[in-house]
Order: sequence, then C-alpha cells, then structure tokens
Amino acid sequence: MDCIFCKIIAGEIPSTKVYEDEQVLAFRDIQPAAPVHILVIPKQHISGCGAITAENSAVVAHIFEVIPQIAKQEGITDFRVVSNQGAEAGQTVHHLHFHILAGRTLKGMC
Ligand code: AMP
Ligand code: ZN
Repeated sequence: MDCIFCKIIAGEIPSTKVYEDEQVLAFRDIQPAAPVHILVIPKQHISGCGAITAENSAVVAHIFEVIPQIAKQEGITDFRVVSNQGAEAGQTVHHLHFHILAGRTLKGMC
C-alpha cells in the first residue's frame, strides 16, 4: 500500500519517535506548526476519522489513553488534539492521525 505512515511504521521511512507500543506509534511532525507537534497514529491502516467503526475503534480509545502519557513526557499540560478528515478539512495523509499541538498560544479553530 502506498501509504507514507504505513512506511514509517514499517521503518522504511525514518521518523523521530516519541512513543511506541503494539498498537500505536507517535512521532514528530516533519513540518511543525507549533513548538510541540506530534502525530499519533494506529499501526493498523485506517484511512481517517471517517473510517472509524465499532470494529476498529478500540485503537482510537487507546490513542486517547496514550495522549496524556505523551503530554506528560513532553512536559505539556495545555495542548490541542486535531484530526482532519478529507481534503477540504486539510487531510493530506490518508492514514488516521491525531495531531498534538502545544508550546504556544493556539488561536482559532482553522
Ligand atoms: P494532515 O494534513 O492532517 O493529513 O497531516 C499530515 C501531517 O503529516 C502534516 O502535518 C505533515 O507535515 C506530516 N508529515 C507528512 N510526512 C511526514 C513524515 N515523513 N514525517 C513526519 N510527518 C510527516
Ligand atoms: Zn497507512
């Protein structure tokens, strides 16, 4: 599958990992939009928020358990979590990911 995040999971493309377990990988965004900009992804390929179902949502719950651990590790208490679904919403990589943004005052929603 021609998916850049699946290639990162497979180790075919390098990344700066900040967290990894059996289900999830988190790494620094290559084009940070804030001083802290981390992407949290499931190791299972899910194309985006629009493809979450009762069958695959357990990993999403797990991601939201991992996010506070990453925040603690990064020393941040205030942060934003964003996931874009579809081109109009700004999705450029079609593998489910949650952006963690922090380290500056974040304004607006878009
Ligand atoms: P989105 O636009 O919501 O789909 O987010 C995709 C994000 O992936 C963007 O913020 C990109 O900067 C980031 N990105 C793309 N390729 C890489 C890569 N090889 N390593 C780390 N982040 C990446
Ligand atoms: Zn993928």
